Amino acid sequence: MRVLVTGGAGFLGSHLCDALLAEGHSVVCADNLLTGRMANLEHLLDEARFEFVELDVCRGFDVGKVEYVFHFASPASPVDYLHHGIETLQVGSVGTLNCLELARKHHARFLLASTSECYGDPKEHPQKESYWGHVNPVGPRSVYDEAKRFAEAATMAYHRTHHVDTRIVRIFNTYGPRLQINDGRVISNFMKQALRGEPLTVYGDGLQTRSFCFVSDEIEGILALSRVSEHLPVNIGNPREFTVLECAQMVLQVTGSESTVVFEPLPVDDPKQRKPDITKARTLLGWEPKIELRRGLELSLEYFRGAVASRDW
Ligand code: NAD
Ligand code: UDP
Repeated sequence: MRVLVTGGAGFLGSHLCDALLAEGHSVVCADNLLTGRMANLEHLLDEARFEFVELDVCRGFDVGKVEYVFHFASPASPVDYLHHGIETLQVGSVGTLNCLELARKHHARFLLASTSECYGDPKEHPQKESYWGHVNPVGPRSVYDEAKRFAEAATMAYHRTHHVDTRIVRIFNTYGPRLQINDGRVISNFMKQALRGEPLTVYGDGLQTRSFCFVSDEIEGILALSRVSEHLPVNIGNPREFTVLECAQMVLQVTGSESTVVFEPLPVDDPKQRKPDITKARTLLGWEPKIELRRGLELSLEYFRGAVASRDW
């Protein structure tokens, strides 16, 4: 197949390009480099089946006939989407409509990268796909949460109205090599701080929870979903839940760092708990994550060491 990956210069998009090329497909990667980096694609630039096009998916565009559209373009870390609030709303709305229109025109299948943020600060725990969420529509995170909720609605509308063959993956916190060192996410911050011997900045009391999925598990789950005919959202994430403090301790152990921990204010509307119910993915896809947090951090260490040393941030 010839497939389009929007946001392919980003963390997840670049791993997805790798995986699709490894499966024998031709990949067109479209990215405006807002939060992504060409460094994530350097190893692919001589590959004949790979094409990079610098473009903003919010503007009308076409890349020729494609058979699958993987729509991953969007700022994703709280620091990035707070900084690029309007761009985040645009890419979730206009950008998603443009990508859906492209899929309709070429009779291509379509997969939307959605997010656990659709559940907001959840009142149901763990989160099943049937939960409608608890989202502040006017808080600082709303630029991302509501953009992704709109993107899901748009995807379902194109499926129902135009019969586009769509899928929606709700991705839970994913980490690994190529996670942008300066994007402010908890794993990138803690790894950077630990490796530089600086204090780890724990927001709030550190008792809020997240469930961290290693990137190879996440990509495997997304590809498994891309092959089945399920149009409603599917959670892909690791159901093992950690407090942020436990995560800090694990980063200190894996890096061997003697950094201390300092407490800083909790960001507004920071979800108190997050853990996917992955029964649907297990049943539908026979998928489950294999790599536990400690192992995933060990597998990421070399990348973070290099990124900290390069000072390219
Ligand atoms: P990232 O910031 O590394 O990658 C996003 C990419 O999208 C970047 O390369 C950026 O330049 C590009 N982009 C942004 N706006 C664009 C536009 N208008 N036109 C073209 N390209 C544009 O983030 P990521 O972690 O790789 O996230 C990828 C996708 O997965 C996002 O849609 C995000 O919402 C979703 N997601 C990620 C996570 C996670 O833990 N990493 C969790 C939930 C959902
Ligand atoms: N966090 C933290 N210290 C940091 C960065 C993040 O304690 O330096 C916390 C943040 O408040 C949240 C969790 O870690 O509770 C995950 O934050 P992240 O930005 O990675 O993603 P989120 O899940 O909030 O989108």
